[in-house]
Amino acid sequence: MQLNFSGLQALVTGAGKGIGRATAKALQASGARVVAVSRTNADLVSLSKECPGVEPVCVDLGDWEATERALGGVGPVDLLVNNAAVALTQPFLDTSKEVFDRSFNVNLRSVFQVSQMVARGMIERGVPGSIVNVSSMVAYVTYPNLAAYSATKGAMTMLTKAMAMELGPHKIRVNSVNPTVVLTAMGQKVLRDPESTRKLKERHPMRKFAEVEDVVNSILFLLSDRSASTSGSGILVDAGYLAS
Ligand code: NDP
Repeated sequence: MQLNFSGLQALVTGAGKGIGRATAKALQASGARVVAVSRTNADLVSLSKECPGVEPVCVDLGDWEATERALGGVGPVDLLVNNAAVALTQPFLDTSKEVFDRSFNVNLRSVFQVSQMVARGMIERGVPGSIVNVSSMVAYVTYPNLAAYSATKGAMTMLTKAMAMELGPHKIRVNSVNPTVVLTAMGQKVLRDPESTRKLKERHPMRKFAEVEDVVNSILFLLSDRSASTSGSGILVDAGYLAS
Protein backbone atom coordinates (compact mmCIF):
# COMPACT_ATOMS: atom_id res chain seq x y z
CA MET A 1 0.00 0.00 0.00
CA GLN A 2 1.76 3.16 -1.21
CA LEU A 3 0.52 6.18 0.71
CA ASN A 4 1.16 9.76 -0.29
CA PHE A 5 1.44 12.44 2.38
CA SER A 6 2.89 15.14 0.09
CA GLY A 7 2.04 18.66 1.21
CA LEU A 8 1.26 17.53 4.76
CA GLN A 9 3.17 18.25 7.96
CA ALA A 10 3.59 15.45 10.51
CA LEU A 11 4.74 15.55 14.12
CA VAL A 12 6.03 12.34 15.72
CA THR A 13 6.89 12.12 19.42
CA GLY A 14 9.51 9.68 20.63
CA ALA A 15 11.08 9.83 17.18
CA GLY A 16 14.62 9.14 18.40
CA LYS A 17 14.38 5.38 18.59
CA GLY A 18 12.27 2.35 17.78
CA ILE A 19 8.73 2.68 16.41
CA GLY A 20 8.74 6.49 16.48
CA ARG A 21 11.97 6.75 14.52
CA ALA A 22 10.75 4.26 11.90
CA THR A 23 7.43 6.15 11.67
CA ALA A 24 9.19 9.49 11.13
CA LYS A 25 11.33 7.96 8.38
CA ALA A 26 8.33 6.31 6.68
CA LEU A 27 6.34 9.55 6.78
CA GLN A 28 9.18 11.49 5.21
CA ALA A 29 9.61 8.81 2.55
CA SER A 30 5.88 9.17 1.78
CA GLY A 31 6.22 12.90 1.18
CA ALA A 32 5.38 14.50 4.55
CA ARG A 33 7.42 17.19 6.21
CA VAL A 34 8.30 15.77 9.61
CA VAL A 35 8.85 17.35 13.01
CA ALA A 36 10.68 14.76 15.13
CA VAL A 37 10.35 15.21 18.89
CA SER A 38 12.48 13.24 21.33
CA ARG A 39 14.46 13.40 24.55
CA THR A 40 18.03 12.39 23.64
CA ASN A 41 19.65 14.91 21.32
CA ALA A 42 22.17 12.41 19.88
CA ASP A 43 19.25 10.37 18.47
CA LEU A 44 17.84 13.46 16.78
CA VAL A 45 21.24 14.41 15.36
CA SER A 46 21.64 10.96 13.80
CA LEU A 47 18.04 11.03 12.49
CA SER A 48 18.62 14.43 10.88
CA LYS A 49 21.77 13.08 9.21
CA GLU A 50 19.89 10.03 7.94
CA CYS A 51 16.85 12.04 6.83
CA PRO A 52 17.86 15.59 5.88
CA GLY A 53 14.85 17.90 6.14
CA VAL A 54 13.44 16.38 9.29
CA GLU A 55 12.97 19.13 11.89
CA PRO A 56 14.29 17.97 15.29
CA VAL A 57 12.83 19.16 18.61
CA CYS A 58 14.62 17.98 21.74
CA VAL A 59 12.45 18.03 24.87
CA ASP A 60 11.45 15.88 27.82
CA LEU A 61 7.72 15.46 27.22
CA GLY A 62 7.25 14.60 30.89
CA ASP A 63 8.01 18.26 31.67
CA TRP A 64 4.85 20.34 30.96
CA GLU A 65 6.54 23.75 30.93
CA ALA A 66 9.48 22.61 28.79
CA THR A 67 7.04 21.02 26.33
CA GLU A 68 5.05 24.26 26.17
CA ARG A 69 8.24 26.17 25.39
CA ALA A 70 9.49 23.65 22.82
CA LEU A 71 6.25 23.03 20.96
CA GLY A 72 4.07 26.06 21.74
CA GLY A 73 5.20 27.72 18.52
CA VAL A 74 5.22 24.60 16.37
CA GLY A 75 3.99 25.37 12.87
CA PRO A 76 0.99 23.80 11.16
CA VAL A 77 0.57 20.07 11.79
CA ASP A 78 -1.83 17.82 9.86
CA LEU A 79 -0.75 14.42 11.18
CA LEU A 80 0.20 13.70 14.79
CA VAL A 81 1.69 10.48 16.17
CA ASN A 82 1.74 10.38 19.97
CA ASN A 83 4.33 7.64 20.36
CA ALA A 84 6.73 8.61 23.18
CA ALA A 85 6.42 6.47 26.29
CA VAL A 86 8.38 4.91 29.12
CA ALA A 87 7.85 1.36 30.39
CA LEU A 88 8.87 1.51 34.04
CA THR A 89 8.48 -1.91 35.63
CA GLN A 90 7.67 -2.41 39.31
CA PRO A 91 5.43 -4.87 41.16
CA PHE A 92 2.07 -3.25 41.98
CA LEU A 93 2.71 -3.28 45.74
CA ASP A 94 6.08 -1.57 45.33
CA THR A 95 5.10 0.98 42.70
CA SER A 96 6.44 4.33 43.87
CA LYS A 97 4.90 7.77 43.44
CA GLU A 98 7.85 8.65 41.19
CA VAL A 99 7.22 5.72 38.85
CA PHE A 100 3.47 6.40 38.81
CA ASP A 101 3.94 10.12 38.10
CA ARG A 102 6.65 9.66 35.48
CA SER A 103 4.61 6.98 33.69
CA PHE A 104 1.48 9.12 33.56
CA ASN A 105 3.29 12.36 32.76
CA VAL A 106 5.15 10.94 29.78
CA ASN A 107 2.69 8.34 28.50
CA LEU A 108 -0.62 10.15 29.01
CA ARG A 109 -0.34 13.78 30.11
CA SER A 110 1.98 14.63 27.22
CA VAL A 111 -0.58 13.11 24.83
CA PHE A 112 -3.18 15.51 26.26
CA GLN A 113 -0.83 18.46 26.00
CA VAL A 114 0.66 17.90 22.56
CA SER A 115 -2.74 16.93 21.10
CA GLN A 116 -4.34 20.09 22.52
CA MET A 117 -1.67 22.27 20.90
CA VAL A 118 -1.85 20.47 17.57
CA ALA A 119 -5.67 20.22 17.45
CA ARG A 120 -6.10 23.91 18.29
CA GLY A 121 -3.86 24.71 15.30
CA MET A 122 -5.87 22.42 13.01
CA ILE A 123 -9.14 24.03 14.12
CA GLU A 124 -7.76 27.58 13.68
CA ARG A 125 -6.60 26.69 10.16
CA GLY A 126 -9.89 24.96 9.39
CA VAL A 127 -8.14 21.86 8.07
CA PRO A 128 -8.86 18.18 8.70
CA GLY A 129 -6.36 16.12 10.65
CA SER A 130 -5.50 12.67 11.90
CA ILE A 131 -4.02 11.75 15.27
CA VAL A 132 -2.68 8.30 16.15
CA ASN A 133 -1.94 7.37 19.75
CA VAL A 134 0.55 4.53 20.08
CA SER A 135 -0.96 2.41 22.82
CA SER A 136 -0.39 -1.27 23.54
CA MET A 137 -2.06 -4.63 23.85
CA VAL A 138 -1.65 -4.07 27.61
CA ALA A 139 -4.53 -1.60 27.40
CA TYR A 140 -6.60 -4.83 27.44
CA VAL A 141 -4.46 -7.55 29.07
CA THR A 142 -1.59 -7.05 31.44
CA TYR A 143 1.55 -8.70 32.80
CA PRO A 144 3.30 -8.72 36.15
CA ASN A 145 5.19 -5.55 37.08
CA LEU A 146 3.41 -3.40 34.50
CA ALA A 147 0.61 -1.90 36.62
CA ALA A 148 1.59 1.73 36.06
CA TYR A 149 2.44 1.27 32.37
CA SER A 150 -0.74 -0.75 31.67
CA ALA A 151 -2.83 1.84 33.48
CA THR A 152 -1.48 4.59 31.21
CA LYS A 153 -2.36 2.55 28.14
CA GLY A 154 -5.81 1.62 29.46
CA ALA A 155 -6.48 5.30 30.08
CA MET A 156 -5.29 6.03 26.55
CA THR A 157 -8.19 3.95 25.19
CA MET A 158 -10.72 6.33 26.74
CA LEU A 159 -8.66 9.41 25.91
CA THR A 160 -8.64 8.31 22.27
CA LYS A 161 -12.44 7.95 22.30
CA ALA A 162 -12.95 11.27 24.12
CA MET A 163 -10.71 13.10 21.65
CA ALA A 164 -12.46 11.42 18.72
CA MET A 165 -15.83 12.55 20.06
CA GLU A 166 -14.89 16.17 20.69
CA LEU A 167 -12.63 16.66 17.67
CA GLY A 168 -14.77 14.75 15.17
CA PRO A 169 -16.96 17.79 14.33
CA HIS A 170 -13.72 19.55 13.29
CA LYS A 171 -12.89 16.69 10.91
CA ILE A 172 -10.04 15.51 13.12
CA ARG A 173 -9.89 11.73 13.48
CA VAL A 174 -8.24 10.07 16.51
CA ASN A 175 -7.31 6.40 16.74
CA SER A 176 -4.81 4.12 18.44
CA VAL A 177 -2.57 1.23 17.51
CA ASN A 178 -2.20 -1.51 20.13
CA PRO A 179 0.84 -3.69 19.50
CA THR A 180 2.04 -6.78 21.30
CA VAL A 181 5.76 -6.98 22.11
CA VAL A 182 8.08 -5.37 19.60
CA LEU A 183 11.77 -6.06 20.21
CA THR A 184 12.90 -2.44 20.27
CA ALA A 185 15.02 -1.07 23.12
CA MET A 186 11.82 -0.90 25.20
CA GLY A 187 10.73 -4.45 24.34
CA GLN A 188 14.16 -5.84 25.18
CA LYS A 189 14.27 -3.96 28.47
CA VAL A 190 10.89 -5.32 29.59
CA LEU A 191 11.56 -8.90 28.40
CA ARG A 192 14.94 -9.75 29.85
CA ASP A 193 14.50 -13.46 30.53
CA PRO A 194 14.90 -15.63 27.37
CA GLU A 195 12.75 -18.50 28.70
CA SER A 196 9.73 -16.34 29.60
CA THR A 197 10.18 -14.50 26.29
CA ARG A 198 10.00 -17.83 24.43
CA LYS A 199 6.91 -18.89 26.40
CA LEU A 200 5.17 -15.58 25.76
CA LYS A 201 5.87 -15.81 22.04
CA GLU A 202 4.40 -19.34 22.00
CA ARG A 203 1.17 -17.99 23.52
CA HIS A 204 0.59 -15.90 20.40
CA PRO A 205 -1.50 -17.80 17.83
CA MET A 206 0.97 -16.70 15.12
CA ARG A 207 3.93 -17.77 17.34
CA LYS A 208 5.61 -14.41 16.88
CA PHE A 209 5.79 -10.86 18.22
CA ALA A 210 5.15 -7.80 16.04
CA GLU A 211 7.82 -6.17 13.91
CA VAL A 212 8.41 -2.41 13.96
CA GLU A 213 7.29 -2.29 10.33
CA ASP A 214 3.93 -3.92 11.17
CA VAL A 215 3.19 -1.17 13.70
CA VAL A 216 4.35 1.58 11.35
CA ASN A 217 2.08 0.27 8.57
CA SER A 218 -0.97 0.45 10.86
CA ILE A 219 -0.02 3.96 12.00
CA LEU A 220 0.30 5.13 8.39
CA PHE A 221 -3.05 3.55 7.49
CA LEU A 222 -4.78 5.39 10.35
CA LEU A 223 -3.08 8.67 9.42
CA SER A 224 -4.16 8.34 5.81
CA ASP A 225 -7.45 8.87 4.00
CA ARG A 226 -7.63 5.08 3.53
CA SER A 227 -9.20 5.09 7.01
CA ALA A 228 -11.36 8.18 6.31
CA SER A 229 -14.37 6.99 8.34
CA THR A 230 -12.47 5.41 11.25
CA SER A 231 -12.26 7.37 14.51
CA GLY A 232 -12.19 6.50 18.21
CA SER A 233 -10.96 3.06 17.26
CA GLY A 234 -7.88 0.93 17.78
CA ILE A 235 -5.98 -1.53 15.62
CA LEU A 236 -4.52 -4.53 17.42
CA VAL A 237 -1.10 -5.49 16.06
CA ASP A 238 -0.89 -8.51 18.32
CA ALA A 239 -0.22 -11.61 16.19
CA GLY A 240 -3.63 -12.85 17.34
CA TYR A 241 -2.84 -12.72 21.07
CA LEU A 242 -6.20 -11.34 22.20
CA ALA A 243 -8.06 -13.93 20.16
CA SER A 244 -6.41 -16.74 22.10
P1 NDP B 1 11.72 2.91 22.60
O1 NDP B 1 12.06 2.97 24.04
O2 NDP B 1 12.52 2.05 21.70
O3 NDP B 1 11.63 4.39 22.00
C1 NDP B 1 10.87 5.36 22.66
C2 NDP B 1 11.25 6.73 22.15
O4 NDP B 1 10.46 7.68 22.90
C3 NDP B 1 12.70 7.05 22.41
O5 NDP B 1 13.23 7.81 21.37
C4 NDP B 1 12.63 7.86 23.70
O6 NDP B 1 13.70 8.74 23.90
C5 NDP B 1 11.34 8.62 23.49
N1 NDP B 1 10.86 9.14 24.75
C6 NDP B 1 10.63 8.44 25.88
N2 NDP B 1 10.32 9.26 26.89
C7 NDP B 1 10.35 10.52 26.38
C8 NDP B 1 10.14 11.79 26.93
N3 NDP B 1 9.87 11.96 28.23
N4 NDP B 1 10.25 12.87 26.13
C9 NDP B 1 10.55 12.73 24.82
N5 NDP B 1 10.79 11.54 24.24
C10 NDP B 1 10.69 10.44 25.02
O7 NDP B 1 10.19 2.43 22.57
P2 NDP B 1 9.31 1.74 21.41
O8 NDP B 1 9.69 2.28 20.10
O9 NDP B 1 9.32 0.28 21.64
O10 NDP B 1 7.87 2.26 21.85
C11 NDP B 1 7.15 3.23 21.12
C12 NDP B 1 5.70 3.17 21.55
O11 NDP B 1 5.19 1.86 21.33
C13 NDP B 1 5.46 3.47 23.03
O12 NDP B 1 4.29 4.23 23.17
C14 NDP B 1 5.27 2.10 23.64
O13 NDP B 1 4.50 2.15 24.81
C15 NDP B 1 4.55 1.40 22.51
N6 NDP B 1 4.64 -0.05 22.56
C16 NDP B 1 5.85 -0.69 22.55
C17 NDP B 1 5.91 -2.06 22.64
C18 NDP B 1 7.20 -2.80 22.67
O14 NDP B 1 7.20 -4.01 23.00
N7 NDP B 1 8.32 -2.20 22.29
C19 NDP B 1 4.68 -2.88 22.71
C20 NDP B 1 3.47 -2.12 22.68
C21 NDP B 1 3.45 -0.76 22.62
P3 NDP B 1 14.87 8.38 24.99
O15 NDP B 1 15.31 6.98 24.68
O16 NDP B 1 15.87 9.42 24.73
O17 NDP B 1 14.20 8.49 26.33
